[in-house]
Parts: sequence; structure tokens; C-alpha cells
Amino acid sequence: MPGVERWDEDAFRRAGHAMIDRIAAYWSSLRRWQGAPPVLCRLAPGDVLASVPAQAPEEGESWDSIVADLDRVVMPGLTHWQSPKFFGYFPANISAPGVLGDLLSSGLGVQGMLWLTSPACTELETRTLDWMARLIGLPGVFLSDAPDGGGVIQGTASEATLVALVAARTCARAGWASEGGVGAFTPVVYTSDQAHSSVLKSAMIAGVADPPPAEGSAPEAGPVTGRGGVRFIRSDARYAMDPDELERRLEEDVAAGRHPCIVVATLGTTGVMGVDDLERVGAVCARHGVWLHVDAAFAGSALVCPEHRGMIRGVERADSFSFNPHKWLLTNFECALFWTRRRADLLRALSVTPEYLRNAGSATGRVIDYRDWQVPLGRRFRALKLWFVMRSYGAAGLRAHVRGHVRLAEEFESLVRGDGRFEVAVPRGLSLVCLALRAGDEATRRLLEHANASGEAFFSHTVVSRRGDGAPGPDRFIIRVAIGGTFTRRRDVLGAWDLLRRTADGVVGPA
Ligand SMILES: *Cc1c(COP(=O)(O)O)cnc(C)c1O
Repeated sequence: MPGVERWDEDAFRRAGHAMIDRIAAYWSSLRRWQGAPPVLCRLAPGDVLASVPAQAPEEGESWDSIVADLDRVVMPGLTHWQSPKFFGYFPANISAPGVLGDLLSSGLGVQGMLWLTSPACTELETRTLDWMARLIGLPGVFLSDAPDGGGVIQGTASEATLVALVAARTCARAGWASEGGVGAFTPVVYTSDQAHSSVLKSAMIAGVADPPPAEGSAPEAGPVTGRGGVRFIRSDARYAMDPDELERRLEEDVAAGRHPCIVVATLGTTGVMGVDDLERVGAVCARHGVWLHVDAAFAGSALVCPEHRGMIRGVERADSFSFNPHKWLLTNFECALFWTRRRADLLRALSVTPEYLRNAGSATGRVIDYRDWQVPLGRRFRALKLWFVMRSYGAAGLRAHVRGHVRLAEEFESLVRGDGRFEVAVPRGLSLVCLALRAGDEATRRLLEHANASGEAFFSHTVVSRRGDGAPGPDRFIIRVAIGGTFTRRRDVLGAWDLLRRTADGVVGPA
């Protein structure tokens, strides 16, 4: 019984409706106040592996038996990212329109590598990226009707950084060569010591930097070799890149005959939500003719609210900008948006055109072929989910989503301040609260372990080297409370605080 025949449209309809029912029931179970599953998965390494046979089945199995295994194999092996009590890392928002858009993308099954291979896949993406650019207050130079601008959906912020880095390096190298450069081209990448690991990883992939010397070590100064490298610029008391230090490092490298090619600034660093000053960093980049890429992976979503636009002051100096609606803007993974105002430089760095991709549409030069804007050739119809989300919630709904979480984070922060056993380790940024026990690292670490083991909520941690008032101090272990889940409401946040308080009773005694 060949599978294709068994799966006629009626069979698909029945199984599909049941799958939607299953997903809806899962969401309901996560939102249940009592009896929700533990947020952090409790299985040991290899448990899931051991529950699945070593060999694939020879004969096709009944759909019922496959679905029945979900409750045995898959569900117990999940950490529930969509739980309203998941406060770890950064959120990974989903929403009904986002999920339906992804489902439709799968069902339509088009592959949008070229304009020709589905004009709707390309042009709807262009339009939704223009919508979003306007919604978050990006200047017109990033819009698709600007002479050299436009946006694209990448898989992840890491890919966006890689693409920017490769474009910047190609551009810097061409400039060097056209000025009669001799000897070795030594590209150098600059970012703050708070930047996401994807900056170093992008430089490693691009052949610019060597891997870090040992697991987990964050190099103070980039290991700049004959091939180039990454300079990690010191951050200031507020965890923002120090622009004077950036300028000094750039000048040193230029004087030593190296070739600065890109500065990656961050809006909302992953650890503690530091925000680089785009005006000052951008001014340094402009003086040195260096590409400025802005990584706003998490914080970019907040730009839908005018009250948070202060952080993009100076963005008109940026050459590229990216943020992830798949973190905090209701659009399920993967959806990282990337805009540039140097489209020609990007295309020069990434275009390769074999005969089999040539076509009349592309030859007109009047269409976008998004394959030239990204690492892979093929691409999903990802604009559908973003289009659904933007239309279904509207700008007002997106703003309300962000504002609700920021308000909850404010309330949470004030609760922390009101309990003398705790301290706010870094002033709140947007919806991220960073806290510690005054009793020290060991106590804070135990608090985190016990709270997560309860299954009632999930938090993650980081290490910072400053006190709550920004003064330098020894490395400290802190707990991050990232509020931003699609389903997270006030009672969940108050419940999380109650859990931390109760757990602290056992660790350091009652307040
Ligand atoms: C989360 C994050 C990233 C990585 O995002 P991916 O889309 O998973 O690659 C990059 N930069 C910052 C600042 C982040 O917070």
C-alpha cells in the first residue's frame, strides 16, 4: 500500500483537523493554572533515544499508531517554551496566525529562491518587510523603493550577522584592492564584550577568526591573526560598547596595517539587555568608512512602540539592521528580518549565477531574487506567517503585546526591590529583569536550581562583572527573568515571584 495513495485529501483532512485539535489542547494544557506539565524537561540524556527503535520501519505504519507515540516519545521530552511560566533565555513567540501561516507555507510547498519560482513569495516578503520597517521607525533608506535599500527574511539573527559580515568584508577588500593594496588583507571585526556569540561564530565561518582558545572562554581582545579576527570592545557601566575604546582599537589596527571591515552593534544584549549608542558608534564607523550592522534580535520588537525608539537614534548611519519577530513578536521560528541600505554591495558579495538559474525575469534586473540575499539557495514562503501576524494583530495589537510584558517586568522588578534578601543585579531593560540573592553566588545558584527543579517555572542565568549600580566588581552569577511569552499574563509573573520567594526561604531563610 504505497503511502501516496493512502494519503488522499480526505485522509489528510481528517488527520490534519485532529492535529490542529491536538495543538490547541496542548496550548490549553500549558495555560492551565493547576496540573500544567513541568516547564523544564526532567528526562535524562538518552531517554528519548531509547524509546525509539534503532531501525526505521520496513512497512508503513498506521497514522493512529504514529500519533499515539507522540504522548509516549515526544511530549515527555519537551521543555515547554510556550508555557506562560517560561522565563529563560529569550522567548520564542508563536501565535495562531503565525502557526497557520507556517502550515500554509508547508502546504503550498513553493520554494522562493528566484522571483520566477513564485512571485508571490518574493513580493509579499518585500511588502511585509517595508511594512515592518515603517512600523519600527527605520529610515526610508532601508525601504525597497529606496535606490539601494530593501529587506529580506533570514532564518536567524546569526545568519543576518554572517551575511552582513561577508558583505562588509567583500566591500572592504574591494576598496583595498582598488587602492592598490599590497600584502595581506587582514579583515578585523569589532563588537562589544557583551555581543552575542554569533558575531565570533560568523567571523569563524567567514574564515576571519580562529575559534576561541578553550570552551567557554570569552577572549578579552580578539585573537587577531594574519587572517584577521574579532576585537571585543570593552563595555561601560551600562553594558554598552565604549565608543572611545572602539575608536582607539580601530586606529591601532589601521596604524598596524590591518583592515577594519565591520562593527556589529547590539540593541539589547543577550545577557543583560545592554544597548549600544548608535549615534556615537555610528560616528566612529563613518569616520573610518566601516560597515555598521545593528543586531537588535530581541529588543527590535519593542520598536513597534514609539516610547522605545530612543535606542535607534543614529540608525540612519547603519548599513544593515536585523531583529527577530520569532523572539518577541508573535511570529514563530524561524523569522529574522534583515534590512540593508547597501543592497548592491550585499548582492555583489553573495551572487553566483549558474546557467540553470538564468531566466528572463531575473535578466530584466527589475525583480528581486532573494537567493542572492542569504546563505542558502532555497527558501520557504516565510512572509506568509509575518503577513498573517501583522494583519491579524495590527500595529495596535503588536504594541499592546510588547507593552503588556514591559509593564509586568516593571511590576516584577519592584517586587524584587521590596524584598531585602534580593537585589536587582542590573537595572531592568525592556522586559528583562536580572536578580541575585545578596547572600552571594552560591545562594543564587541554589535558588535557580531549586526553582527550576520545581517545574513551576523556568529561568536561566548569566554572569556579570558589575554591581547593580554599574560599578566594577567581581564576576557575579545572576538569574535572568525574561518576560515575553505569548501566553504569559500577570498571574504567571506574580506566580514566578512567589516561587522565587518561597524557594529563597529554603535557601537563605524567610525574609
Ligand atoms: C538571540 C540573539 C541572537 C541569536 O538569534 P538567532 O536568531 O537564534 O540566531 C543574536 N543576537 C542577539 C542579541 C540575541 O539576543
